[in-house]
Amino acid sequence: MSALLEVAGLDVHHGDLQALHGLELSVSAGETLAVIGANGAGKTTLLRAVAGSLPVSAGRVVLDGEPVEHLPAHQRVALGIALTPEGRRIFPSLDVEENLLVGAYRARRGPWDLASVYDLFPLVSDRRARSGAHLSGGEQQAVAIGRALMSNPRLLLLDEVSLGLAPVVVGEIYAALPRIVERGTTVLVVEQDLDQALGCADRVQCLLEGRTVLEGPAGSLSRDDVTAAYFGI
Ligand code: ATP
Repeated sequence: MSALLEVAGLDVHHGDLQALHGLELSVSAGETLAVIGANGAGKTTLLRAVAGSLPVSAGRVVLDGEPVEHLPAHQRVALGIALTPEGRRIFPSLDVEENLLVGAYRARRGPWDLASVYDLFPLVSDRRARSGAHLSGGEQQAVAIGRALMSNPRLLLLDEVSLGLAPVVVGEIYAALPRIVERGTTVLVVEQDLDQALGCADRVQCLLEGRTVLEGPAGSLSRDDVTAAYFGI
């Protein structure tokens, strides 16, 4: 099966600092890949390079056979790549529904609209007229994911879903992932929480200082091996 996303030989710099070193990664349609790693491993850099909000120094980002590394972010959205950024970036002056509709600007056709997002996240449905400034962290995360889905992505990039949220809320958000995949959206999730990553993903890829140190099917990796790779032991 050809990959939906193929990343090859990817180098990304922040000024003089090289954050990714010849990174290779692929995600097949319908699978969920978790990219894990400690602070500074390069996870956010990877997602931003795939989404087009960071330039790449070398290498390729290919969506369903089409090179996209030269395209600006909005054109990648039009081709089916959507990012839920770290920190969620909800617009505080807009209400929930308006925040969601921002994601529908130039949306592709597909299964995601207000009704299906509300069905996915009832907690968002209950808050649809509430201002973005008055949402809990979990509500913001659900709105941020819903906003990305409104563009009807083929590939949804999720950055640090669990960051700063109570475990019960994280569980609610992660419970939605299989339903997102069922509707035909492939998911690449970046996570620091090993248990969440191993629990949600078909495959796991662990980064350390911008390089892959371990990868494999989630069910085949031992917790000890993953922990050792994560900490670079
Ligand atoms: P975190 O979980 O802390 O977000 P991460 O795995 O997502 O970590 P990145 O944020 O991609 O890691 O950072 C990779 C490296 O690039 C780190 O050394 C980081 O300090 C550096 N870096 C990231 N963003 C910038 C930036 N805007 N300017 C300079 N250096 C940066």
